[in-house]
Amino acid sequence: MKRFILFGAPGSGKGTMGERIQRDFGFARIATGDILRAEIERGSAEGRQARAHMDSGGLVPDELVIEMVRRRLQAGDLDGGYVMDGYPRTLRQAEALSQVPCDGEKAVFIEVDEEQAVGRLLSRLTCRECGAIYNRANKPPLRPGICDVCGGAVEPRRDDNEQSVRERFRVYAERTLPVIEYYHRLGVLARIDGNGPAGPVYERLRGLIA
Ligand code: AMP
Repeated sequence: MKRFILFGAPGSGKGTMGERIQRDFGFARIATGDILRAEIERGSAEGRQARAHMDSGGLVPDELVIEMVRRRLQAGDLDGGYVMDGYPRTLRQAEALSQVPCDGEKAVFIEVDEEQAVGRLLSRLTCRECGAIYNRANKPPLRPGICDVCGGAVEPRRDDNEQSVRERFRVYAERTLPVIEYYHRLGVLARIDGNGPAGPVYERLRGLIA
């Protein structure tokens, strides 16, 4: 199966683009942030371990995330290919993923101005149930507070506040930029301009998948 990895700063649109790829190409979507938030909702031991790291904008420990992804990659829904959103975020995670064979790997770096990304995060709303992404300014849910997709509660994410966002950018620069460089060296990295509305960004991205 093919593996498609989305990279980009917080607020670069990885989630929105991942959802569209899933919808249009039938890829499974593996979003570690969504999996972790689901663990928190379930009140599992992993969720309890992850929560403080996520709230502060830090990274959840590698061992926990690598193991979670290892389990997810054993599910039977990946034959049509899969898109990874938010993983790998550290070199250790990238090395672990490289051990998992695939028929072809592509990585895309969605580049976006920091100011624009911060603006998006601070006006973002997400569904607590299914993770669907909205935006107060230009994509509110049809009924306020209610998810168009699943009827779940739509609200700001706990970590979409200024302090946590600042920390997420710092951690991204320190831990994840070297991972992007790692994929560049593997020769599988493309870059796209992620500024502006989602539609045109997605058109640029589509061309790289097909
Ligand atoms: P996201 O939904 O991708 O923005 O992720 C939200 C938060 O979940 C991050 O700020 C991290 O605390 C945690 N997280 C998600 N993916 C990872 C990962 N691959 N490694 C470590 N922590 C992660």
